[in-house]
Amino acid sequence: MAGRLQDKVAIVTGAGRGIGAAIARSFAAEGAKVVVAERNSETGAAVAAGTGGVFVETDVTEQDQVEAMVRTTLERFGRIDVLVNNAGANVFYRPHEMPRSEWARCMSLDLEACWALSEAVLPNMRQQAAGAIINIASTHGFKIIPQTFPYPVAKHGLIGLTRALGIEYAAEGLRVNAIAPGYIDTEIARDYWAGFDDPDAERRRAEALHPPRRIGRPEEVAMTAVFLASDEAPFINAETIMIDGGRSALFHD
Ligand code: NDP
Repeated sequence: MAGRLQDKVAIVTGAGRGIGAAIARSFAAEGAKVVVAERNSETGAAVAAGTGGVFVETDVTEQDQVEAMVRTTLERFGRIDVLVNNAGANVFYRPHEMPRSEWARCMSLDLEACWALSEAVLPNMRQQAAGAIINIASTHGFKIIPQTFPYPVAKHGLIGLTRALGIEYAAEGLRVNAIAPGYIDTEIARDYWAGFDDPDAERRRAEALHPPRRIGRPEEVAMTAVFLASDEAPFINAETIMIDGGRSALFHD
C-alpha cells in the first residue's frame, strides 16, 4: 500500500536526533525520500542510513551550505515537496544578562535560518506550483516564561514568518504551517534535568505540569508533521498546531 507521503522529497533540518530524527523516520515510513540536513555528521549519517535517506552535512546558519544542500537535493531527486525547518536550540537568559552575541546566535538559528531555507526552496516549489513548508516553533511562540530570553522572541517571529509566507504563496499552491510543541522528551529536556541535584524529581515536576501527567514524545510531533506534509491537509495554511497535552489551556490559580 502506498504511504501517506509516497515518493515525496522532504528536507528535514537538524534531523540527527530528537524531534527532527523522529520526523525523518516517520516520513520515511510513509514512503518519503528524506534529506537529512544536519550539521552533526555522525548523527546525521546514522539517521539517513536508518531511513534509507540521504545525509547532506549542513549548518543551516551558513547560507552557502544551505544553497549547496538544496542544489544537491535537486540534482539527486529533481524536486522538493516538503521542507521541515526543525533545527533549533534553546538560548535562555534574563534579558539584561544576555551577552550581545547570544542574541545573534539565537536569531540566526531559530529564525533567520528558517527564512534562508524557505528562500532556497521557494523557486522550485513555485515552479511546481506545489509544496509544504513546516516550521517547528514552540509554545514559547505564544507565551513567555521568564529567563528564557531571546528564544521566545525568535519563536514568535517564526510563527510570523509562517503566516507571512503562507499568505504570500497560497494562490501558487504552497502551504506554510508551523507546529508548536510543548515539553518534549529529547536531549534538550534531559540535559536540562541533569543540571538539577535530583534530575528524576525535576522530570516528575515537568510531567505534573501537564494535564495527561506526562510530557510529549518526539514521535507525537512527527505524527502531526506527517499530516501537514501529506495531501490530507490541503486547506490548512498559515496555521500553527499546538502539541502540549493541553497545558496551554490549563487555568493556573
Ligand atoms: P535537539 O537538540 O535534540 O536536536 C536539535 C538538532 O538540530 C541536533 O541534531 C543538532 O545538531 C541540530 N542542529 C543544531 N544547530 C544546527 C545547525 N546550525 N545546523 C544544522 N543542524 C543543527 O532538539 P529538539 O529535537 O528538542 O528540538 C528540535 C526543534 O524543536 C527545535 O527547533 C526546538 O526549538 C523545537 N522545540 C523543542 C521542544 C522540546 O521540548 N524538545 C519544545 C518546543 C520546541 P547537534 O547534534 O550538532 O547539536
